Amino acid sequence: MIYENAPAKINLTLDTLFKRSDGYHEVEMIMTTVDLYDRLTLEKRKDKRIVLKIEHRYVPNDHRNLAYKAAQLMMERYDIKQGVTITLDKTIPIAAGLAGGSSDAAATFRGMNRLFNLGLSLDTLAELSSEIGSDIPFCVHGKTTLCKGRGEILEHLPKPPACWVVLAKPEISVSTQEVYGALDLTAPYDVIDNTRCKAAIETGDYQEMIQSLGNRLEPVTIEMHPVIQMLKDTMMKAGADAAMMSGSGPTVYGLAAKERQAKGIVNALKGCCKEVYMVRMLG
Ligand code: ATP
Repeated sequence: MIYENAPAKINLTLDTLFKRSDGYHEVEMIMTTVDLYDRLTLEKRKDKRIVLKIEHRYVPNDHRNLAYKAAQLMMERYDIKQGVTITLDKTIPIAAGLAGGSSDAAATFRGMNRLFNLGLSLDTLAELSSEIGSDIPFCVHGKTTLCKGRGEILEHLPKPPACWVVLAKPEISVSTQEVYGALDLTAPYDVIDNTRCKAAIETGDYQEMIQSLGNRLEPVTIEMHPVIQMLKDTMMKAGADAAMMSGSGPTVYGLAAKERQAKGIVNALKGCCKEVYMVRMLG
């Protein structure tokens, strides 16, 4: 039996360049992982089945689950004859912009590799994983990364300057597809400077990093769910150094250099947001 952690991610940046002929958006984004985890247990079975044990109202326990798809792809591609039982203990909020499903799939790729002693590199697993989801290659590595293409072309970066991250997940779920559907690529928007953010991370410059955060999808999701703007404003008023939506939302994160500052943000969110987490970047 083996264990794998599946950390959530946040987007420090997210830019969408154009819509590709395959229907995906060409993106450029810097993502990093935070210490909010789903936990997976993988066990070999005597039969050939994939059994996914998960107790969650909104998460399927069959072939629709990304962890199941990852196990299935590994079994097919590497001719694994033995089945697996995957127990998935969810903590990451669902449909939140935190890549919970993608991270579960990534943990399954890593876990299957270990369970069946395949000896595959993370690069090989990441490449295979792009067949079932654009954010999974990033999650396979779990490092701070500049992601291009549809998300699967990776340039690893150093760990960002140390800070606290306060996550606030409002009581709504957002469909990534719906947000991309509502995105108007011809509308003017604040420049998202991935080069500046990358340089800030590389030089460990926290002030530069917080000034270079940006998310092209943020105004789109705010238009649908104004609560996101309210959470950003609450965090900034409470002393956050920066506040930004992650991915397609709706989770908003606030950054704080000091622990006391982060605790102040958590306190300010009491009464307006039930799901709040104070975490650190892992990257
Ligand atoms: P992203 O940031 O990549 O857009 P997300 O946080 O918005 O991801 P997820 O929590 O990964 O979204 O899940 C979105 C949908 O995918 C859910 O509605 C759920 O039904 C389905 N899903 C499939 N596998 C999983 C999984 N292992 N965990 C959570 N949701 C899953």
